[in-house]
Amino acid sequence: MHGYSDQQLETLGDAILAYSADRLKLDPVPLDGPRTLAELDVSAGRTITPQGIGGLAALKLFEEDLAPACISTDHPRYLSFIPCAPTEAAAMFDLVVGASSIYGGSWLEGAGAVYAENQALRWIADLVGMPPEAGGVFVPGGTIGNLSALVAARHTARMNAAHEGRQGPGGRPWRVAATHGAHSSIQSACDVMDAEMVGVEVDEQGRLTGERLREAILAHGPETFFAVVATSGTTNFGIVDDLASVSQVCREFGIWFHVDGAYGGAGLAAPSVRHLYDGIEHADSFIVDPHKWLFAPFDCCALLYREPALARAAHTQHASYLDVLTAAPDWNPTDYSVGLTRRARGLPFWFSLATHGTDAYTEAVERTLEVTRFAAAEIARRDHLEVVREPDLSVVVFRRLGWSAADYQAWSDRLLAEEFAFVVPTSHEGETLTRFAIVNPRTSEDDIVAILDTMA
Ligand SMILES: *Cc1c(COP(=O)(O)O)cnc(C)c1O
Repeated sequence: MHGYSDQQLETLGDAILAYSADRLKLDPVPLDGPRTLAELDVSAGRTITPQGIGGLAALKLFEEDLAPACISTDHPRYLSFIPCAPTEAAAMFDLVVGASSIYGGSWLEGAGAVYAENQALRWIADLVGMPPEAGGVFVPGGTIGNLSALVAARHTARMNAAHEGRQGPGGRPWRVAATHGAHSSIQSACDVMDAEMVGVEVDEQGRLTGERLREAILAHGPETFFAVVATSGTTNFGIVDDLASVSQVCREFGIWFHVDGAYGGAGLAAPSVRHLYDGIEHADSFIVDPHKWLFAPFDCCALLYREPALARAAHTQHASYLDVLTAAPDWNPTDYSVGLTRRARGLPFWFSLATHGTDAYTEAVERTLEVTRFAAAEIARRDHLEVVREPDLSVVVFRRLGWSAADYQAWSDRLLAEEFAFVVPTSHEGETLTRFAIVNPRTSEDDIVAILDTMA
């Protein structure tokens, strides 16, 4: 099985590289769309057989039957959820990572990869304003990033409580404060950790503020909290919490300050919105998903800690067969998150940053913000459309006057069936609405106009 002949390797290698290059050159890529299980049973059928069907046949099957059954998240009119639109450089380098058999969990095994990943993390840490000792790891996504940060926060709080001799109720903090606009992964992390999420009310602008946070913390008892989670760019609206006042309250009570920038953290690179993030430099931990708004392929979340030693104490796995790694003073990425084995998933992002330079990232993020502002203005200009909240970042939520939930759904289904666009309904305070999330620099003003024209 491993003994492919040179000839076979070359033939299959050429075919895979040609397919990949063609895919990356498509402009635009076809949107494609889901098929039913029954349809796939007919078109693809049984693919795994005792003798194997051969690489070329499997590739053909992927190209003709499987790939078209997957929506292209990098299509310029894919504006649902949060799209993923990697640079060609990042996507191509993913092939290299796959071909290189690198273990990205330890310095001993993957020093070169870890060195490069850490420079990419450093770029983000500098955007945040974290101190030189800050560091972290690339994890699969914001969900694992948030969970890992909260595990580090709780471990730290418990060590401190034990150190101060606080025992009994309140001695082992179990609460997390966040808003209801926080991402679902925060509640999910609390569930996994058997922690309690305390929902803090937001202000008129939908933001978590220090004032409301202080009230909630005092109402429940400061010693019961091990973390506060602020969001720098909520998923539904792109709202950035009032990080400065929130960070101040965290310091006042000595509570870990985590900032979830999975989607919106990328805005740190854009001077036109950088002021929204004031106070973020006080974060004890921070995440941003380069697979969202920083043009890296799935799956890639940057997780950073102000004091990595605290995370290391919480996450290092101990076992006799790992002693050789844990005893060394080296930087082992695996020590900073949930999980052990890891792919060097930060490398495609690093390669693209190294290739294009950070100025290109600033320009690309600004470009998406420009198109978002255009979209908001274009929506406001049309009689039957209404912006629900002026966008802070690159998400705009709006309503089509007179439409029911069923109307939004039928419209969305039609656009996808026609492979024209992928824009799903969302909801806010019980009302069905729709939403554009613009993180693809290829999404143009023309795309926005074309989609809005279908809502007349
Ligand atoms: C997307 C998102 C997450 C979850 O990230 P995944 O990479 O999907 O696990 C967490 N928080 C926010 C604010 C997000 O937008």
